[in-house]
Amino acid sequence: MDGRTTVAEINLAALRKNYALVKRTIPAGSGILAVVKADAYGHGFLDISKELESLGAEAFGVAFLAEGIQLRRSGLDRTVLILGGIYPGEERKCVGYHLSTALFTLEQAEGLDAAAAKLYRKALVHLEVDTGMGRLGVSHADIPAFLRELKRFKNLELEGIFSHFASADELDPEGVNYTELQAERFSKAVSEARAQGFAPRYIHIANSAAVLNLKLPYCNLVRPGIILYGALPSADFQGKVVEPEPVLRFRSKVAMLKWVDPGTCISYGRRYTADERRLIASVPVGYADGYNRALTNKGEVLIRGKRARVTGTVCMDWIMVDVTGIEGVSVGDEVTLLGMDPSGVCISAQELADKAGTIPYEIFCCISKRVPRIYL
Ligand code: PLP
Repeated sequence: MDGRTTVAEINLAALRKNYALVKRTIPAGSGILAVVKADAYGHGFLDISKELESLGAEAFGVAFLAEGIQLRRSGLDRTVLILGGIYPGEERKCVGYHLSTALFTLEQAEGLDAAAAKLYRKALVHLEVDTGMGRLGVSHADIPAFLRELKRFKNLELEGIFSHFASADELDPEGVNYTELQAERFSKAVSEARAQGFAPRYIHIANSAAVLNLKLPYCNLVRPGIILYGALPSADFQGKVVEPEPVLRFRSKVAMLKWVDPGTCISYGRRYTADERRLIASVPVGYADGYNRALTNKGEVLIRGKRARVTGTVCMDWIMVDVTGIEGVSVGDEVTLLGMDPSGVCISAQELADKAGTIPYEIFCCISKRVPRIYL
């Protein structure tokens, strides 16, 4: 993709700072499982994982088997946990690549046990407890019976036990109460595993929100994602915690400038009409790059440290922005779409998410493959 003017710069120094922030926040002795699924939330998971490995991250979380295999093939030899578990037929590769997997059915246990026996090694599993997320995991009420069954499988190693919060990012009393209920159910499941003679090496439930907001003394591993990439899990945290530093800067350049007369319409559907003479810049980024179409007439970008509003509909490859009043604006000027401008002003993922009616996670994950990632 040589010559592309629209790129995502990934600032590894910011990643290092955010990692240090997590490290400072969690108890000494607790490890970090860095969540690098979905291409490290669009940041490029091979480069990000390599950096986090050098910083001492103990483990890595991926969504499915293929992501885990890619990490192994890149040479990473730390614990890699497939958070989404495996499907029938994937057991051999999972064990062969020495990947750990979430476990939530006895069928998975059977398949993994058989594959492990054939390969003369143990299958590494993390039992997922559904404490209230209602997505994956053995329901917390069924944990005692499930653990009793699990003892049959001699080629499985219960390397971990974990759960996932549904609303740790909501700091209102309802959100907090639900999170506490989930934590209590998880703590009971951990005690039950111990009572039945299991000694899982890793006990984990905390995502970024919980890292920032909860004390979980019975855990020894945390599973942050978004905070490592420099965003907060939700607007609820803004101004309440030490803010991480944005790692990604999505940037482009002004391709064309033109003065338009009052009454001139801009872009598809004529959703913007100039009210007076305005200077409009065309910028080669669009929804095919992951600049959300919902930012039509709402998004703001930074040019020469000043904010400029998107005028009209976001196209597949273009946006137009109103740069009237930005002194000296010229073709070729850098345009910051997301992240920290060299002037120190920031367009946060939360800001774009609020305007687009989504969450920061989606803003990052949607920056498409055709946008080259440049590592600084
Ligand atoms: N653990 C699991 C199972 C997840 O699905 C995710 C993210 O979706 C995380 C941890 C990390 O969450 P966050 O990015 O909010 O820290």
